Amino acid sequence: MMSSACSPSDEAVKTEPPTPAPNPNSAPDNPNPQLDGDRRALVVYFSCTNTTKGIADRIASVAGSSTYRIKPETPYTYNDLDYNNSSSRANREQNDTSARPTIAGTPENLSNYDVIFLGYPIWWGKAPKIIFTFLESQNLAGKTIVPFCTSHSSGLGTSDTELHSSASQAEWKDGRRFSGDESEATVKDWIEGLKLNLNGNSDVGSFNLAAGANGNAPTVRLNSGYDMPIVGLGTYSLLGDVCVNSIIAALQRGFRKFDTAYMYDNEESVGEGIRRSGVPREEIFVCTKLYPNQYADAENAIDKALRKLDIGYIDLMLLHHPGANDVAAYKAMEKAAAEGKIRSLGLSNYYIKEMNGFLPEVTIKPALVQNEIHPFYQENDVIPYMHEQGIVVEAWYPLGGRGHTAEMLSNKTINRIAKAHGKSPAQVILRWNLQKGVVFIPGSSNPDHIEENISIFDFEITDEEMAAINALDRNEKHDWY
Ligand code: NAP
Repeated sequence: MMSSACSPSDEAVKTEPPTPAPNPNSAPDNPNPQLDGDRRALVVYFSCTNTTKGIADRIASVAGSSTYRIKPETPYTYNDLDYNNSSSRANREQNDTSARPTIAGTPENLSNYDVIFLGYPIWWGKAPKIIFTFLESQNLAGKTIVPFCTSHSSGLGTSDTELHSSASQAEWKDGRRFSGDESEATVKDWIEGLKLNLNGNSDVGSFNLAAGANGNAPTVRLNSGYDMPIVGLGTYSLLGDVCVNSIIAALQRGFRKFDTAYMYDNEESVGEGIRRSGVPREEIFVCTKLYPNQYADAENAIDKALRKLDIGYIDLMLLHHPGANDVAAYKAMEKAAAEGKIRSLGLSNYYIKEMNGFLPEVTIKPALVQNEIHPFYQENDVIPYMHEQGIVVEAWYPLGGRGHTAEMLSNKTINRIAKAHGKSPAQVILRWNLQKGVVFIPGSSNPDHIEENISIFDFEITDEEMAAINALDRNEKHDWY
């Protein structure tokens, strides 16, 4: 037996959870050309005992990327990993230069990624042989590979450089060793130091407002690689012709984003308005949502939404609320993303506690979370949490919601600021959202209001005015969820 300070027993043995599906980067076509700052990362890792998985999840969280777990066709048992038994499976493999344990499955759409973080536990001072299997079975030419390993005591050694010849056409970065309990802050410092230009590192909480004009909202790049207009029209309670006409009026006034849901019972009308407008489909961004009573049969629900909208693909699909089977429903959305039916995935009415439970269960990181946000309910804890994860935050009820708008729009502070800029109270509230890094979807069937709500790029709220609106927070929710 080789003597080494490191061994598989560096990782405490736990039961393997089911391996997540390969990351389905869902693009029916490549979402965006390779721009600076537009490189996409995938975290690929092998973990028997979940220590490496923990670091992989932290890297994915910081980099705003998805994960793919390398799963051996024959899983390693506790005895297979016995460091003290010279004939244990892992020991034999590590001593056999030609050993290449078979991998079950293969990551789909690897070609969509530019950067591969490649993680493994240190076994007898080296990367497990299954890492070599992965490298030699994939076309990694032109990709940047960033190795990382986990161990309790032993160092990285030459475990990273020994991998180079198995993917010699890739650009290799120096490897990095982590202990299992490394903090996210350490991981973040490391990734920032690598200067990888990842889109997941792009700031989803500050928009290029100077690039906008009234009637022409700028976009934010989602962690899925797609661009989304930061101003959208909410369609809750708009039905039939009212909805169709509102969509057409909004498109004529420069809106390119719409928010609907199964629950609003207007997906057909939203689709009809888009088709009738004459604006090319690819210029428009449509978000719809699955309702909890659809989660048990989400695959059919997704197809139903596609049929009702009848606009080819869905730009963004959200789970409307946490609920029974929400993870399964999200996995159905991940599958639909892989099939090109949906481009980006997200959630609604998930707060920090719900996110902490949900995120470890899914493969594709949500691109957006839509929650109640307005001057009287600001969510100042939730917003930075989401932004740190590379998740766009979107406000529903941005004007307080029907039944509450009168009080909000007549608020003294908001009116003082509106007067100072020659804008309406609604415009001040919307602009305040954007300067806080929050996108929104005010609902309206009134063409004048619709136009007003996208005419907010010709003024700027001062720091003092921002602080005054921030001070209006009274933690007052206007709906129960
Ligand atoms: P909202 O946008 O806060 O308020 C809509 C109300 O504001 C309407 O009565 C509208 O009346 C009025 N309004 C719009 N623009 C105005 C302006 N410039 N000046 C004065 N009044 C104006 O509430 P919402 O429509 O209920 O919510 C926004 C969207 O968020 C919904 O449409 C829906 O898409 C989404 N939403 C999501 C959830 C969720 O759980 N995910 C929950 C609620 C809502 P007019 O029609 O007369 O303009």
